[in-house]
Amino acid sequence: MFDTLSDRLNSVFDRLRGRGALGEQDVRDAMREVRIALLEADVALPVARDFIARVTERAVGQEVLKSVTPGQQVIKIVNDELVTMLGGDDDGAGAATPLNLGVKPPAVVMMVGLQGSGKTTSTAKIAKLLREKEGKKAMMASLDVNRPAAQEQLAVLGEQAEVATLPIVPGQQPVDIAKRALQAAQLQNVDVLLLDTAGRLHVDEALMAEMKAVASVSMPAEVLLVVDSLTGQDAVNVAQSFTDEVPLTGVVLTRMDGDARGGAALSMRAVTGKPIKFAGTGEKLDAIERFHPARVADRILG
Ligand code: GDP
Repeated sequence: MFDTLSDRLNSVFDRLRGRGALGEQDVRDAMREVRIALLEADVALPVARDFIARVTERAVGQEVLKSVTPGQQVIKIVNDELVTMLGGDDDGAGAATPLNLGVKPPAVVMMVGLQGSGKTTSTAKIAKLLREKEGKKAMMASLDVNRPAAQEQLAVLGEQAEVATLPIVPGQQPVDIAKRALQAAQLQNVDVLLLDTAGRLHVDEALMAEMKAVASVSMPAEVLLVVDSLTGQDAVNVAQSFTDEVPLTGVVLTRMDGDARGGAALSMRAVTGKPIKFAGTGEKLDAIERFHPARVADRILG
């Protein structure tokens, strides 16, 4: 995960660590290399620029440069700012942003995203995680009436995840499926109802209208956008287009297992203001984790 970025940053830091004294110019030279590494990782330009400005401002302070281990201090500052860039809150702990499920049950989690982003798989992964790790009674319903066999795909994943899925009624439209899912979830005392909405190849008006209609009948506690980490800046742009239309509460970043660069993870919060709540790390239903900014920063610099 993020190996290329990690290698690039570590080679800059090895050089910093190896030096006793550091001058302002040394810091600026190192930061120029960090900036290039971030841009090569497909981090959005303004985000990379801000990051470098913040690190440089803190690092050229006299206390840092006069300390016994200036290289270490600079690396610590980079680490802190990476955590912030990944969405860590100001408390510095860099903990994962929790799901807001503390509403009158069933709490609805609406999953949105483009086709192929990993939305259906992520729906089942999150349902399984909530069932296994938090003891929640979960239910899933597919509202994807466009893609052939999408509803069946979710039913198969539901069996694997041991999570109930709403029975399929052929021909029913998304808003009606959502209403039926809510009724079923209420009757069955479900804690969390996950709605897997339809994907499209591109963000378009019809997709947004459907998302809004589903949101207005289901009143979701969470609207999670699923995007593919491998698409870098495109993932961030997709997130921005959705943010403008539907009240997203967070992002699920899939295929982090295959992403050597990390640009989507590093730009998402600054560009869209939305926290990444989960990371998909493989094809299996267990391959998901809560996105923990401090741990991701550790992996990058580790
Ligand atoms: P959807 O069209 O957005 O619903 O996409 P799917 O959920 O059907 O996923 C498309 C493909 O991506 C499937 O083969 C999934 O197994 C795969 N996939 C989803 N998430 C991940 C992930 O985090 N890592 C990897 N390696 N593959 C994933």
